[in-house]
Amino acid sequence: MKKVYAGIDLGGTNIKYGLCRPDGKTIIFRTIPAMVEEGPRNLIRRITDCAHELLDYASRKSLELNHLGVGTPGIVDVTTGKIAGMSPNIPGWKGCNPKKSLESILDIPVFVDNDANVMALAEFVFGAAKGCRNVIFTTVGTGIGGGILIDGKLYRGSIGGAGEFGHTTIVKDGRQCNCGRRGCLESYAAAPYLLEMAEKMATDANTGSVLTPVLKETGRLTVEDVFGAFKKHSDPVAEKAIQLSAEYLACGLASVSAVLAPQIVVIGGGVADAGGTAYVKLVRNALRELALQPVSSRIRVVKARLGNRAGVVGAAILGDYT
Ligand SMILES: [Zn+2]
Repeated sequence: MKKVYAGIDLGGTNIKYGLCRPDGKTIIFRTIPAMVEEGPRNLIRRITDCAHELLDYASRKSLELNHLGVGTPGIVDVTTGKIAGMSPNIPGWKGCNPKKSLESILDIPVFVDNDANVMALAEFVFGAAKGCRNVIFTTVGTGIGGGILIDGKLYRGSIGGAGEFGHTTIVKDGRQCNCGRRGCLESYAAAPYLLEMAEKMATDANTGSVLTPVLKETGRLTVEDVFGAFKKHSDPVAEKAIQLSAEYLACGLASVSAVLAPQIVVIGGGVADAGGTAYVKLVRNALRELALQPVSSRIRVVKARLGNRAGVVGAAILGDYT
């Protein structure tokens, strides 16, 4: 009987789910809308449907499937499976227990963890951090997620709250953050502030930026617009906004590195996908300047390798790494 792993990656917009082989290659990878606005009960029902589909497929093909993994936004108490907090994009999710709900319906053990933690695990086992023991993983998009591996093990801290370095304070009394506090790394280095800076600068036609007419026509800029202008036109506005954003990220990562002394920092998420190696290089250079010696000169800073499948693959193998 061939062995497979089943994973579900829950996001504020979509649910991704699939089966992967022991080498991390996905044999099924599907996406459905999460429809989180319809409430947590409906969300559990949708996740259960995905799980049934995967289990049925494995049974039809006579594949060995021993457990199911779920990655979800929020702080997850992995011993109970309860969502302990920090899930602002899914209304009513805090206090829910997807592990308990799924195990009461499915005849299979279910493991649940934070989405950035499972992505970190996937990059550690199959991706950019393969072979490393001490790893910092960060996902930079609308927000900033984080995962930490210490000596080859996911570090979850008390009630699963570790790795939330998007909410480390980098500016006292700074910008308002989604977590309710002020001055968090997330409110400076994630996509919204990058776009806000670029839009503010691009409103001034004297900059000669290619983003000025785009902003005039559409009323807003996207991460793709800004990185496109940076890469194709060396646009001064795009360059300045991206440089600042990368420096803020490096500033936060430098503090985390001083505490954890990682071998490698892996950067994933929508901003890293749009910015590619050019963005990662800016973060790398700024981090080398800002971080504490001698660790800083040895830290490898690389782009994540598994793309949008990392969440599913990481969730799928959770049972083997919990
Ligand atoms: Zn915050």
